[in-house]
Amino acid sequence: MVDDTREMPEPPADPVDPADADGVLRLLEVERAPEGTYGTLEPATPPLIDGQGRVRLSFSRIDSYRNCPRRFRYDYIDRLPRVPSPHLSFGSSIHRALEAFYDRKLPDCPTEEELLGLLYDSWETTGFRELPREEQIGFYRHAQDVLRRFHRRAAPTYRLPAATEAWFELPIGYEAVVVGSIDRIDADDDGALHVIDYKTNRKAKDRARVAGSLQLAIYALACRHLFGRLPATVSLDFVVPGVEVRVELDELDLDATRETILETAQAIREERFEPTPNRLCDWCDHRAICPAWPQDGSESLGEAVAELRRRRREAARQVRELREMEAGVARLASEVGAASTADGRSGDTR
Ligand code: SF4
Repeated sequence: MVDDTREMPEPPADPVDPADADGVLRLLEVERAPEGTYGTLEPATPPLIDGQGRVRLSFSRIDSYRNCPRRFRYDYIDRLPRVPSPHLSFGSSIHRALEAFYDRKLPDCPTEEELLGLLYDSWETTGFRELPREEQIGFYRHAQDVLRRFHRRAAPTYRLPAATEAWFELPIGYEAVVVGSIDRIDADDDGALHVIDYKTNRKAKDRARVAGSLQLAIYALACRHLFGRLPATVSLDFVVPGVEVRVELDELDLDATRETILETAQAIREERFEPTPNRLCDWCDHRAICPAWPQDGSESLGEAVAELRRRRREAARQVRELREMEAGVARLASEVGAASTADGRSGDTR
């Protein structure tokens, strides 16, 4: 029997809030390097250009750039703080519970109660901490309902997938690499692969929009990179309404996908970050500093924070180069020392 009385996990004590001015300052405090240490200046996330000079992208980065290049810059180059969102935490909790559901290495389907237990273990509180407790509980109960529905759909055909959260690093020419992880890849008995991505939108998209999904096309290419063959189908599983929309591989345009990735990489390399007002501006964390919108004076703080981060990254790059030079000089010095010692010894024996 399902345990409906299970309590929602407690949020962590004393959370940091990056949304307010104090939160911004605390974040800066955490990132400040102690005197005399170099390592803490390293960026917290991988650099945008990797060691081979390729632009390092993900579906989220490409999607962000295509929606608004300036927002992309604020998020991924300036790395301005973002306001935690209940919907992001809700989606992340559902994803983690479903990953654990398919990742048990046992052929039997976990029970509904076990799936709800996985939700309990996976519940991420970050985005909910500003909400009254009743609303937090409402989100948790909603997640329980969503997973009960998912269990009813999945249990009759449950089988272990070929992979869950399959991490990939997909090179696109010499210009770009796209990284990410695929929620689930199923394999038929004949070896045909099926890529599945979970979505927590309230409504399902129609077949045409699923077939036009850049994310699924990237995942199809990534599947070939990982398994040596393209998937037979790709699908978005809209877990909230409980609908999986599946399309055949030949409905995707993989050539156009490669072009889109390369164009995005090129535009980023050329530092084209124009603000592009769109329907998502109302939910943009950086509207208060965006030049496309009337300002209330807070843009100067935002731009100052952005400039500080830019300079910090530049300092980190110079420190890395300095360390490499130091290591090179030390290596050279020890080689020269060893050669002189050898010369001295050979002189003794003459
Ligand atoms: S407010 Fe709109 S135009 Fe400005 S950065 Fe955000 S998404 Fe772009």
